[in-house]
Amino acid sequence: MTIFNFAAGPAVLPHEVLAQAREELLDWRGTGMSVMEMSHRGKEFMGIAAEAHADLRELMAIPQHYKVLFLQGGATMQFAMVPLNLLRGKLSADYVNTGIWSKKAIDEAKKLCYVNEAASSADKSFSYAPDFARWKLDKQAAYVHYTPNETIGGVEFNWVPDTGKVPLVADMSSNILSRPYDVTQFGLIYAGAQKNIGPAGVTLVIVREDLLGHAPAGLPTMLDYKTHADNDSMYNTPPTYGIYMAGLVFKWLKKNGGVAQMEKTNIAKARLLYDVIDASDGFYTCPVAKADRSRMNVPFKTRDAALDAEFLKQAETHGLLQLKGHKLAGGMRASIYNAMPLAGVQVLADFMGEFARSKG
Ligand SMILES: *Cc1c(COP(=O)(O)O)cnc(C)c1O
Repeated sequence: MTIFNFAAGPAVLPHEVLAQAREELLDWRGTGMSVMEMSHRGKEFMGIAAEAHADLRELMAIPQHYKVLFLQGGATMQFAMVPLNLLRGKLSADYVNTGIWSKKAIDEAKKLCYVNEAASSADKSFSYAPDFARWKLDKQAAYVHYTPNETIGGVEFNWVPDTGKVPLVADMSSNILSRPYDVTQFGLIYAGAQKNIGPAGVTLVIVREDLLGHAPAGLPTMLDYKTHADNDSMYNTPPTYGIYMAGLVFKWLKKNGGVAQMEKTNIAKARLLYDVIDASDGFYTCPVAKADRSRMNVPFKTRDAALDAEFLKQAETHGLLQLKGHKLAGGMRASIYNAMPLAGVQVLADFMGEFARSKG
């Protein structure tokens, strides 16, 4: 039986990438060393890192006036590093509250500045993306922060806000590389690797150069983006194996049509699941407004928790793993990142249909 892993993160990686990593595990290209054993200052690893950077730049069409950083600490560390670096002497920042991850970013920022909640979907249990016309932006804000894809709630913005001169900051942890973005619309993009990039341990930051170098005096060295930008993300030992794996994923993306092709496949994958939900006559429900349904994380429930538990148990016997919803959301959640093949989503959609017929 083929296993399909719908985990929200750490998540499935492309099978070909894992196979290549296994192939190269003990002896990377005749060097007699594993990538894990290489000095990060040696020419072999420097080459691996440079290629990963170049491939990501190509995939996302990142302009030269943006720096690409491979850091550690997860997206959660960025909740603090963003205000620490981007306040630039200002006292407040705008945040959009669309669910659990935005809220965590907001709570962390509140330790460092005044947070203006410019928009929120709390009135409807975080089930939609607030219309831009209703955002109450502050022209004096240091930046505007939002979460393009709420991984737990399954709410995704299918548009990018235009915040004018105020830099836009996006937590793209769960939808980076899943659809084309115009990087120039953002001041800073960050993402933990373990959903759509590679294994846990690498955090990607893409930041416009003019936003660097404004950290307050006394900010610890490692928390200053400029430290990492000036040292090609090698100020200290970087997460070498994670960067190598991310690099293999970037090659895999390039070989498979890049981000534009990923988007096409991701649309088809998401449609398979939402179609089953919508055709189920209320057997399955998804709490998210149709226009804002995530292509990456599909949350759904049956009529009660006991039936959800039975669904999960039966799904496992079909090789469909890690479908349990987040503990705060309950029910089910299918995370269908780039590395999840269409065939896997089809097996899940078929199983959902069967299960509904057997219980309906
Ligand atoms: C997973 C996730 C995070 C947390 O990432 P860590 O790498 O665990 O810190 C933050 N934001 C979003 C949108 C996520 O999906």
